[in-house]
Amino acid sequence: MTIQQCLVIIKPDGLVKSLTGNIITALSETKFKIIGAKVVSVSKELAEKHYSELRQRLIEKKGEEKGKAIFEEVLKYIQGHYHTNRVLTMVYEGENAIESIRNLAGSTNPEEADPTTIRGKYGRVNSKTQVMENVMHVSDSEENAKKEIQLWFEPEELTNVIYPTKKEKVSMDKIVWKN
Ligand code: ADP
Repeated sequence: MTIQQCLVIIKPDGLVKSLTGNIITALSETKFKIIGAKVVSVSKELAEKHYSELRQRLIEKKGEEKGKAIFEEVLKYIQGHYHTNRVLTMVYEGENAIESIRNLAGSTNPEEADPTTIRGKYGRVNSKTQVMENVMHVSDSEENAKKEIQLWFEPEELTNVIYPTKKEKVSMDKIVWKN
């Protein structure tokens, strides 16, 4: 039995299309439990870190010029340039969570995704930017799930932590409520 954690992001098109409820309902009807959630305004730096391997993959698939152009558009898409500059990021946990939640999401290309999946139902390929606007992100392997969860969340933001942590003294300025 492998208990996995999996990063799920409702992307800016998912928020704008009011799909948050549908997606969370679909996830709540699985055996997986939510162990972290927050709304994030995605910076270029965060987008680049999240998609650190995608640029090369797109260049290999589409050629140098087209691959780079699509990659830049994917970065803009996740930052919300075309919808809203917010995403809802969540971590789900359970046995075989990654494969199961990816099946529920459907294929990357919404035009090829099974029409009963979330991406198949609600996604589209943007004809201007060529970006597959597929409503949600789901980690695709244990290795990437770890990398992504550690990128998007601090250990204290999760109700269950499965990756090693350490105690560190940190001193930093923090914005707090005035009253
Ligand atoms: P997934 O999100 O299914 O794990 P990838 O990691 O390959 O897929 O790609 C990240 C995101 O970049 C996709 O969800 C999609 O929004 C976009 N994308 C990937 N490949 C393409 C492509 N060939 N054309 C347009 N957009 C793409």
